[in-house]
Amino acid sequence: MPELPEVETVRRGLEPVMTGAVIARAQVNRPDLRWPLPENMADRLTGQRVLGLRRRSKYILCDLDGGETLLIHLGMSGRMLISGAQVGAFAHPHPAPEKHDHVVLDMEGGARITFNDARRFGAMDLAATSGVDAHKWLAGLGPEPLGNAFSEDHLIERFRGRKMPVKSALLDQKIVAGLGNIYVCETLFRAGIHPARQAGAISERRVRSMVPIIRQVLEEAIAAGGSSLKDFRQADGELGYFQHNFDVYGREGMTCKTTGCEAEIRRIVQSGRSSFYCPTCQR
Ligand SMILES: [Zn+2]
Repeated sequence: MPELPEVETVRRGLEPVMTGAVIARAQVNRPDLRWPLPENMADRLTGQRVLGLRRRSKYILCDLDGGETLLIHLGMSGRMLISGAQVGAFAHPHPAPEKHDHVVLDMEGGARITFNDARRFGAMDLAATSGVDAHKWLAGLGPEPLGNAFSEDHLIERFRGRKMPVKSALLDQKIVAGLGNIYVCETLFRAGIHPARQAGAISERRVRSMVPIIRQVLEEAIAAGGSSLKDFRQADGELGYFQHNFDVYGREGMTCKTTGCEAEIRRIVQSGRSSFYCPTCQR
């Protein structure tokens, strides 16, 4: 499932082929993905120039010169494919449309952007750019973890008195937007905090320490995604999925990476999702 760094990588990959370009033709092959697609979506996109691509949490916001913004969420398995354009050193020919190619944007200049989603948990909508922050998908979101509004004081304030496990608190999109399971596991490992510890019972000093760690974990992953864009070896032009080495995520039963620690990484299930942690390093 794509998390914030993967979505940011997709945004950066789309930017050179979309920003400033006109959508010459839009093809919408279904009435819905996870939710109904907007009415007359193809007509509303066709002929629009893309002013820019932004990211809010795990949404890509594509601002159009007609005053609307296309909101894109990749869901569980959504993929953005670029074809027909020179991307890095590689040019990908237009593949034949496939069963799960739900939305296809042909850009003036020949690039084709294809949204492919086998499980259809992805979503797209169109809304007025001026009011997009109030869109129901974005309205309740907390601050961006890499933005200025996310601070030590904010996290201390939002953790105060909370009985929920710290893992759940960091996944709460109202507290901080865009953090997902993988990067929360990695953050808690680096912070030395057990995922089941009550959020409100963690000392202010330790809560404070989490803020730069969250930023570092995300920035490292975004940097890894950026390298994947430079290489761009994927034959089909798929964006956003890249190799990344995790300290704890997916490492159940393997030895902890902390120097001198010989404990095995454990996995517990919290709110239906796996948490990976070191029982020695995380308290
Ligand atoms: Zn350890």
